[in-house]
Amino acid sequence: MNCPHCQSSKVVKNGTKPLKDGTPIQRYRCRDCNRVFNERTGTPMAGLRTSPQDVSLALKMRSEGMALRASGRVLGYSHSTIANWEDRAAEHEASWSPPAPETSEPTLEGDELYTRVGENLPPL
Ligand SMILES: [Zn+2]
Repeated sequence: MNCPHCQSSKVVKNGTKPLKDGTPIQRYRCRDCNRVFNERTGTPMAGLRTSPQDVSLALKMRSEGMALRASGRVLGYSHSTIANWEDRAAEHEASWSPPAPETSEPTLEGDELYTRVGENLPPL
């Protein structure tokens, strides 16, 4: 994993910070610019303290045509929270991916986001 601020590879582990559901998120500190970040920095979920499973599920429900308020009620979040996740995911999709072929589904797989981030972590 490189520093998202200066791209340096000289990053060291800096403890963990639990999400609301107790899932630990690994935090890092950059030895070059001395900034602290975590494994979510640079992903659509950076700064959110929400379980990635919930976000992923919400995005799937929305991609299946479920209404904002209905998705929120099922998962226990407000509809504005769900809308915020969608905005984050949409922004990232636009900056990440080449234009999708017209035949493919324009959906974002939350699980895939986290897999990609996980693959960039240094070996323990
Ligand atoms: Zn840095």
